[in-house]
Amino acid sequence: MSPFLDLPPLSAAEFAAIEDQVAALLHTTADVIVTQGEALLPLEAAIRGAAHPGSTALNIVTGPYGQTFGNWLRSCGVEVVDLAVPFDSAVSAQQVADALAAHPAVDFVSLVHAEAATGNTNPVAGIAAAVREHGALLMLDAVASVAAEPLLTDEWGVDLCVIGGQKAMGGPAGVSAVSVSQRAWERIAANPAAPRRSYLSLLDWKERWTDAGRTVLPHAPAQLEMLALGACLDRIATDGLPAVIARHRAASAATRAGARALGTLAPFVTEDAHAAPVATTLRTPAGVHAAELAARLDPALPVQPGGGPLAASMLRVNHYGPAAALPTVRACLTALATATDADPAPALAAAEAAWTAAVQG
Ligand SMILES: *Cc1c(COP(=O)(O)O)cnc(C)c1O
Repeated sequence: MSPFLDLPPLSAAEFAAIEDQVAALLHTTADVIVTQGEALLPLEAAIRGAAHPGSTALNIVTGPYGQTFGNWLRSCGVEVVDLAVPFDSAVSAQQVADALAAHPAVDFVSLVHAEAATGNTNPVAGIAAAVREHGALLMLDAVASVAAEPLLTDEWGVDLCVIGGQKAMGGPAGVSAVSVSQRAWERIAANPAAPRRSYLSLLDWKERWTDAGRTVLPHAPAQLEMLALGACLDRIATDGLPAVIARHRAASAATRAGARALGTLAPFVTEDAHAAPVATTLRTPAGVHAAELAARLDPALPVQPGGGPLAASMLRVNHYGPAAALPTVRACLTALATATDADPAPALAAAEAAWTAAVQG
């Protein structure tokens, strides 16, 4: 007998309770809509809902997802100003403020918080303040930052905050969520091009579910994913969000310290302050192809080559969810030492020291 079959249907009350748990995790009192699909679903829904045709958007590109957002915005008939920074660093609040000053018409800003693909993270608090000051709406892709680093949706003034369960939350893929501020609802409602009677429609959800008292689900929920999302939210509540965040911070610090001690692989993101707690990207030495190196490692280790053009020169050590643990970091460093003919001992010692310092700090 499979424990996944013959379950009673998920009730509307259970679905609503999970939305409330997500809201608590995001530190928001705004409406939270749990969406039945991967995180690209609420990201696209937020853009197509909030970005009015003929308006101007500032799209901050610090990794591959920013490029996707720019393409969606352009397909909505939006004038897009791309603010791109090298993927081995972060965008600063000053750069965003300067871009907004140079383009007064901007009324929508899209930003990725942490980039799992490139290993960098952006200072959202300062950026959000600049966006607020300008009067624009801010959409934040927090898929790779939620539960890995502080995410203060309301305090920072994030209007549309999108998360998925499968990264630092240690939960399921295929279910996601977006918080929608009052300002964002007003913008979406005023957009004649906002999707209606569509899988991408946040307004349909508001009308049929959120504003209708959340008593009758408008569809059959993705029950297994919802149960898994509820379970991972319970586990984060039990462990305590600060402890989960500290584990990710420590995994990043330990991986970076270990890689530096190896000597053969250098952190791709040079400044510690720009390093994402969710994944550490490493530059392979000249002449060493990252994808070939990764293929020689135990496939059970959370190490993969960079995507697209980065596959030649970048390795990505994922340390999120259950992998945000010292034994996993040690196993990755040991394997990387072997694969690059380096001595693992100094790397392991450096990693351990950095882990201890990070969990105490
Ligand atoms: C993983 C990730 C996504 C995509 O999540 P899916 O659920 O696979 O669609 C989007 N943005 C960021 C920053 C991510 O790390």
